[in-house]
Amino acid sequence: MCDSFSSYFIVFYWAAKLIGLNLTNNMKPQFDQNKIESVKSLISNSKRIVITTHYKPDGDALGSSLGLWAYFKSIGIEANIVLPSEFPGFLKWMHGSGETTDFMLSPEKAKEFFNQADLLFCLDFNDPTRTEGLSNIIENSSAKKIMIDHHLAPKDFCDFAFSYPSIGSTCELIVHFIEALDGLSLITMDSAACLYAGIMTDTGSFRFSSVTAETHRVIGILLNTGMRNDFVHEAVYDTSSEDRLRFLGHVLLNNMFVLNEYKAAYFLCTKDDMKRFNHQSGDLEGIVNYGLSIEGIKMAVLFSERDGIIKISFRSKGDFSVKDLAEKHFEGGGHKNAAGGKSHLSLEDTILKFKKILSELQHD
Ligand code: 5GP
Ligand code: MN
Repeated sequence: MCDSFSSYFIVFYWAAKLIGLNLTNNMKPQFDQNKIESVKSLISNSKRIVITTHYKPDGDALGSSLGLWAYFKSIGIEANIVLPSEFPGFLKWMHGSGETTDFMLSPEKAKEFFNQADLLFCLDFNDPTRTEGLSNIIENSSAKKIMIDHHLAPKDFCDFAFSYPSIGSTCELIVHFIEALDGLSLITMDSAACLYAGIMTDTGSFRFSSVTAETHRVIGILLNTGMRNDFVHEAVYDTSSEDRLRFLGHVLLNNMFVLNEYKAAYFLCTKDDMKRFNHQSGDLEGIVNYGLSIEGIKMAVLFSERDGIIKISFRSKGDFSVKDLAEKHFEGGGHKNAAGGKSHLSLEDTILKFKKILSELQHD
C-alpha cells in the first residue's frame, strides 16, 4: 500500500512540476555574480561605510542594519549606523544598539557620518522619503549607494539594488548577501540574534506565506552560531510594561470596531489614551494583528494620533492588497499584507474616509 502511495505521489509531484506548481517553495534570491563582485570591491576599497534604514525602524530594519554592521566590523571595515529616528526600547537588547546614531537626537553627528562616507547601505526601504529627515541627505550624498530591500517597486536612487519583494525580510536577504560575500562563518551569536529577530518579526514568527524552506535554512545557519532563539522571542514578545498591557486591554475592549460586512476590523489609539497609559515608543507594535485573529476578518487597521497626523497601519490576509489601499488613499505603501500610511484629516474624518473607501471597494 505504501509503495502504491509513493508511486502516486511521484507521478503527482512531477505532473505538478510540469504545469509549473512550486511544491517545495524553496526560494533563494539569485544574486547577479557581476553585481556581487562590484560590491565586494567597493566594500574592500571603502574607508567609511554608513548603514541607514527607514523612519521608525522596526525589528527587520534594526536587525539587518546591526547584522551587516557586525559583518563589516569582523572584516575590519569601519561602519556607522545612522537611524532617521529613535531606537525603540523593546529592541535595545540588540548587540550594537548603543553604537547607532539617531539623526533626530544628534543631527550634526549623523550629517558628519554621511559627509565622510564613501559607501552607503540603504536597508529595508525602497524610497528615500521613507527615511523622512534623512531623505535629502541620502539623495545628495556622493557615496556609492547599495540598496538591500524587500519592498515592491523600488525607486531608482541607488547604484546597486538588491531588491527582492518575494523575500519575507531584509534580515533574510542580509544572510544571503553575507553568504554571497563568503562571510557566513563570521556571523557571531550576537549578530545572529539581531538577524533572527528581524526575520521573526517580519514574518509574524515564521507564519506568513513569504516563509520558505530557504528561510528555514537561513534560520538554521543563525541557530548554528549558538544564539538563543528562546531569548529572542522572550526579549521581543515578553517584555511589555504593565501600562502597555493595560493599554492593549483598553484598546481591545473600548476602541476596537468590527465591520463584519466588510470583513474588516479597526482600532483607534488616541493621544489622550496614549497619555493615560504612559505611552512609550513601540507600544503600538502588534496591536493591529489582533484584528486578523477574529474569525472571518481579512483586513485590520490601526489608526493612531501622532503630532498633527494620523498614522495608519494596515494588515490583511490572503489576496487583498493593503499596499494598494495605502498607496492610493493614504500616502503610504508597504507589502501586500502589511502596509502603512498617513492622513492629515482629523481622526473622525479619517475613519469616515476609510469607511467610504470600504463601501466603494465592495462595488468594484
Ligand atoms: P507598520 O504598520 O508596521 O508601520 O508598517 C507596515 C509596513 O508598511 C512596513 O513594511 C513599512 O515599510 C510600510 N509602511 C509603513 N508606513 C509607511 C508609509 O508611510 N509609507 C510607505 N510607503 N510605507 C509604509
Ligand atoms: Mn522589512
